[in-house]
Amino acid sequence: MRQFIIPGAFAFLISFSLAIAQIPNQVRTPQTGYIQPGTIQPGYFQFPIRPGEANSLAGGMGDLRPNHFHAGLDIRTGGREGLDVQAAADGYVSRIAVLTGGYGNVIFIKHPNGLTTVYGHLKTLKDTLGLYLRQQQYDRKTFEIDLRPQPGQFPVSKGDIIALSGNTGGSGGPHLHFEVRDAKDNLINPLLYGFSEIRDDVPPYFERIALKTMTPTSRINGEYQRVSYTPVRQSDGTYTITKPITASGLVGLEVLAYDKTSGSPYRNGISCLEVRLDGLEVFAYNMSSFPNEQTRFLNIHENYEVEQMTGQRYHRAYIADGNVLNLYKLQNNAAYRGRLPLLDGKPHEVTLTLYDAFDQATRLTFTLLPETTPTNSLPMDSVAVSADSSALTEDAPLGTPTATITTDENVLKLTVKNVSTTSPPFAKLFTGRTTIEQPVSYVGTNQAIYLIDLRRTLPDSVQFGQYVVRTNLKKRIIPGRAETFSDRNTQLTFSPKTLFDTLHLSVRPIPGGGLEINQPTIPLNDYLTVQYVPTYPIAIDTARTKAYWTSGGNESFLGGTWNNGRIEFKTRWLGRFQLLTDATPPTVQILSATPSGITAKIRDERSGIAEFRALVNGEWVLMQYDYKRALLWSDKLTPDVAFEAGAEVLVQVKDRSGNIGSDSTLIAEPRLVFQRKTISKRKRR
Ligand SMILES: [Zn+2]
Repeated sequence: MRQFIIPGAFAFLISFSLAIAQIPNQVRTPQTGYIQPGTIQPGYFQFPIRPGEANSLAGGMGDLRPNHFHAGLDIRTGGREGLDVQAAADGYVSRIAVLTGGYGNVIFIKHPNGLTTVYGHLKTLKDTLGLYLRQQQYDRKTFEIDLRPQPGQFPVSKGDIIALSGNTGGSGGPHLHFEVRDAKDNLINPLLYGFSEIRDDVPPYFERIALKTMTPTSRINGEYQRVSYTPVRQSDGTYTITKPITASGLVGLEVLAYDKTSGSPYRNGISCLEVRLDGLEVFAYNMSSFPNEQTRFLNIHENYEVEQMTGQRYHRAYIADGNVLNLYKLQNNAAYRGRLPLLDGKPHEVTLTLYDAFDQATRLTFTLLPETTPTNSLPMDSVAVSADSSALTEDAPLGTPTATITTDENVLKLTVKNVSTTSPPFAKLFTGRTTIEQPVSYVGTNQAIYLIDLRRTLPDSVQFGQYVVRTNLKKRIIPGRAETFSDRNTQLTFSPKTLFDTLHLSVRPIPGGGLEINQPTIPLNDYLTVQYVPTYPIAIDTARTKAYWTSGGNESFLGGTWNNGRIEFKTRWLGRFQLLTDATPPTVQILSATPSGITAKIRDERSGIAEFRALVNGEWVLMQYDYKRALLWSDKLTPDVAFEAGAEVLVQVKDRSGNIGSDSTLIAEPRLVFQRKTISKRKRR
């Protein structure tokens, strides 16, 4: 599934890199659905940081990040800011933006071949770009800005210094974030352009793999479950699993694996993953390019539930239903979309191969033994079509059977503990007036497990003996179409894009106030609109009471607008929602105010900072903002002109609940505070 770059193109790369000793000699052009023919022209771009010097990466193309695939390379800058950032090729500056989070200060350069390069987390922009940006910020009286200069306005030549590297926006340390995009806004792995500055002698490596049952009739080690294993590295560099595994039915394989570039401690993602079953390729994943607009499909590429529970980002080596990314290749196995069909009661050999962007490969081989009590052969329609998990537990009195309900994919799993396993009774499923008797699926030690296919029935409650467990399941919500649900207090509106996959909707009130909609382990693609009338008697200060997503003591502000006692808000998470009041204004503390500049600390407790401004004698002054340090600092329109001593300084901050905090002072006399700086300025003149 991978092709070599044609030799001519490779010679072209070498001719452009004569001055550089290290040349990656194994770069191939992988196939994906997104790279157009002719897009990869090795040698077209120069490295944007210290070209010609060996470097390494802190992040790679396609790394699995929160809600997105990493869109390019994180190029190391020696742990510091202020390195020259050079244009990777001729072109013009097509976009300049300043964002509090995300890319921070960012430049886009459009090139004559239709590609665009992106340079993020910049400290400052150089020369005319910096002046233009600051003038625009002053004209619009705003820190955050998104500018689209005209094609002729800021032409650049390959190697021009356009900025200094930094740590702005959502950056965890100084580095340059560098992207290559095509005209359709597909991200392309910059390493395909053959940068000799980056070497990779480190093969990719396995941390964990997991096997997961995908249908009610699947079993792993006798149970319906997900089991993870640590592959063991052998002396020849290949990996194996030393524990015996039995499996039957349709089984999903999941992989936790990384790669590093030479000289870097940072673990990056893998470039390619291949699965063979008994020697035949059944699944491949290739991360060389993806569409920017579909980056959120990361949440359905990875096992999102495991990520939410443990922080570990497993690649799913099967295509979950609802995953429309064109990063996969299915051979010999299209019907099962990568799930391993273990249907014949025989042992099967699984081979998993990882590749990095330099085509170094690492292999894991293991055998899946048949289950001792094989399950029935599988009907085709049993392929799981949903990723869903919600734990709904009701405790029974002590010393009696206890029942637990969880949902996973399309399966509701009822686990009854402390029961005789010799002849466990049927469980009764109640859906409206319909009752279904469900035989036990299998038994474990002192427990009976019932697996209920939610595509066939969506029970309101499940009865086992004298115990009844409510499921809170309300409705089956299908992706790709507008859907609504309403009850006394709640109305939910799903757009056709809200869901990745079928949702077995569960809604219930939270004791003490608020609302729970399924579990936070189910990802949403786009916003769900919630209208909610609080059930508890509170005198609501509607101006300052907003919706929050709450999880494990954390609160995330969602906002919302009130109308006749009902709040409407949008969410991209499922789970718990509460209405919280923020009546505390932000804290503002001016740290220094001198003729050369102003600095201030700003913080807000609950809803978070919405906007800020600084005035000197009533005139708006640009404040740079670093949310990571809670710091504002002034950036004068004309840096050489000092603030007037004695001028009034006012810094105001508004939070997202409308509370305003402020601090004020006077600009200090210059010689008292900044004597040394004043002297050195005189010297320069
Ligand atoms: Zn990055």
